[in-house]
Amino acid sequence: ATPTSIMVGTGRAAESGILFKGGEHLERTHQLEAIVLDKTGTITKGKPEVTDFTGDTEALQLLASAEKGSEHPLAEAIVAHAAENDLPFLDVDDFSAIPGHGIEATIAGKPILVGNRKLMHDRHIDMEGAEEALTSYEMSGKTAMLLAVDGNYRGIVAVADTIKESAPEAIQQLKELGMEVIMLTGDNERTAQAIANQVGITQVIAEVLPEQKADKVKEIQLQGKKVAMVGDGVNDAPALVTADIGIAIGTGTEVAIEAADVTILGGELLLLPKAIKISHSTIRNIR
Ligand code: ADP
Ligand code: MG
Repeated sequence: ATPTSIMVGTGRAAESGILFKGGEHLERTHQLEAIVLDKTGTITKGKPEVTDFTGDTEALQLLASAEKGSEHPLAEAIVAHAAENDLPFLDVDDFSAIPGHGIEATIAGKPILVGNRKLMHDRHIDMEGAEEALTSYEMSGKTAMLLAVDGNYRGIVAVADTIKESAPEAIQQLKELGMEVIMLTGDNERTAQAIANQVGITQVIAEVLPEQKADKVKEIQLQGKKVAMVGDGVNDAPALVTADIGIAIGTGTEVAIEAADVTILGGELLLLPKAIKISHSTIRNIR
């Protein structure tokens, strides 16, 4: 590989909005065999919206007030929904995030819990009658979260995030380039499968805790494959570092961009196959 041709390659990439932090990453991109994509904010737009809430107004107020303390996109969707409905927010005495599971807070002396099945199960909340609705939301690709107030189940909030328009085409092109394409997410299995179906991904690794994302990438490497990780979140940073090539979504967090070897501007997924094509043409010309 001549330094000049590598420079020309990274220059061409940069003109398209693909920023390599160094020429060695372009060379390693040429060797990729598998690509792992985070779901929320990478495959989807990362701007979820509340579509359903099964509880009453008081429950919605408690739910949204509790979520005000969270920076998670799911929380932002819930807070925006309550604001649109002109619900005043209540004072929150205590707040903590439970990564990969949900949140807990105290409002007017009452403990509030919001999150997935696992969280409710761990806290012994009886969710009598919730399972059918939960499953149906998840089958349509929505993320459904449960609310408990003072130890009692009070409703389900469902949030939908839409896929990026170019995602199916980008994934198709990656497959045509011989890439194994895998989706990695903390979201539940059914929601993940529904989104994967919409974009043409068949391999899904779901319900992965934030600290386990890097381990999943390592497992793929242990199968002897050179793997890229594509992500936008703080949660994705360790996996971006672990992967042979870490690719950050330009619209994502600063932490992800710092951790990555490559950044694609504007989060345009078609830049992923483009980066691989540029690496191939650059390296092949050298040989
Ligand atoms: P993702 O890969 O989608 O970023 P996370 O690991 O952040 O997933 O979250 C996994 C799951 O934990 C979510 O699908 C949701 O059920 C629950 N969860 C996370 N944050 C919150 C929150 N602020 N409120 C309610 N539930 C949450
Ligand atoms: Mg994400």
